[in-house]
Amino acid sequence: MSLIDATHTTPLGGPSLPQERRLVTSIPGPRSQDLLDRKAAAVPSGVGHTVPVAAVAAGGGVVVDADGNSLIDLGAGIAVTTVGNAHPKVVAAVQAQIAQFAHTCFMIAPYESYVAVAEKLNELTPGSFAKKTALFNSGAEAVENAIKIARKHTGRQAVLAFDHGYHGRTNLTMALTAKAMPYKSGFGPFAPEVYRAAASYPFRDGLTGAEAAAKTISMIEKQIGADNLAAVIIEPIQGEGGFIVPADGYLPAVVDWCRANSVVFIADEVQTGFARTGAMFASEHFGIEPDLITTAKGIAGGMPLAGVTGRAEIMDASHTGGLGGTYGGNPVACAAALATIEAYQEENLADRAVQIGRILVGRMQEAATSDPRIGEVRGLGAMIGVEFVDPATGAPDAALAGAIAKRAIAEGVIVLTCGTYGNVIRFLPPLSIDDALLNEGLDVVLGALAAA
Ligand code: PMP
Repeated sequence: MSLIDATHTTPLGGPSLPQERRLVTSIPGPRSQDLLDRKAAAVPSGVGHTVPVAAVAAGGGVVVDADGNSLIDLGAGIAVTTVGNAHPKVVAAVQAQIAQFAHTCFMIAPYESYVAVAEKLNELTPGSFAKKTALFNSGAEAVENAIKIARKHTGRQAVLAFDHGYHGRTNLTMALTAKAMPYKSGFGPFAPEVYRAAASYPFRDGLTGAEAAAKTISMIEKQIGADNLAAVIIEPIQGEGGFIVPADGYLPAVVDWCRANSVVFIADEVQTGFARTGAMFASEHFGIEPDLITTAKGIAGGMPLAGVTGRAEIMDASHTGGLGGTYGGNPVACAAALATIEAYQEENLADRAVQIGRILVGRMQEAATSDPRIGEVRGLGAMIGVEFVDPATGAPDAALAGAIAKRAIAEGVIVLTCGTYGNVIRFLPPLSIDDALLNEGLDVVLGALAAA
């Protein structure tokens, strides 16, 4: 059975979808359950899912399922549809490009939209120096290529990643990622010459930025040796690891050390990039100018695209043919990216992220004053995490975070968890969500907390 049939009209997505939470069946309803049964039979169980629905349309701040339920979206497909699902500008750009041509392979016959996306990223990323950009398909692929470029440029092999870091599921990015379950367990051996240090986690390490940076730098100097180190890669706000915002001064101190030691500093802005944190890139909040920046997710309104942008002399390190891929910088994805970036600017979506963040933090901090299970509310812009703890010991409470998310989803609110300890609820709403819907979603989440 198709989920889209004559007896059941499927709405088009986009901002004109009714902006409401509407439950007409339990979650999952029968049509969603049909799809989940087919999924279980046809798709390996290694590919999990968080929300047991069959999505058929999305836009503004909602996702509609095959049974006609309308769920409030506080996850944006893990920070991807930041501009809003089926944004009219993106839809028009994709339709126009696919009717023109879908693919030539940029390495065979180049086209303008790739170059235009590169020009935009070179202009918008922090740093006034000359930059270049190469495009890929996924965040992990961008990270892999950033490391390749840094190694070629420096002639060194070692790479430093961090506790709580997440960079993807390919072999090299698994090695860079900290958490074993579910990302690495049983999938080794991992790429060599990857080292790991503690970064800054003020809620748990109690260190100032300067103290945490001194620890990181000491680890590098004693255990790796600056002369062996090609790159340091870090998320300016660690995403999957728990929405961890480093203490003031931490990132600038690490960047300064890298510069003094000719080590390439890579900011992985795959999750933090594109207006999410209230700036086009999170690096701006910390006053840093990374040598290379990796981007993906919010770049193209939901189309798969990723980039590595950075200092021209580093980006040019590779011999011709060393970088690329069949689909990297696909013209349809590039058309979507140009439309998406225009929408961020025209609709002042970075400012909207700040407003959304005020609501998120205000509501959660208010709850924290009377509920000691909320250990910390943190984040920037519309990237806010709430860390749940056992009030007596401060130990991470993953069961509580999981129970809240599960109940919220059953009540029609998509909310995600994260964290090395699994005890963080993370809010990543599309920036197209309206205040009323956002507040209703938070009512449900806070209701789930009260009930847990
Ligand atoms: N880096 C970061 C910081 C991420 O958050 C992610 C995805 N969650 C990735 C890399 C990997 O991106 P992708 O899933 O597109 O490969």
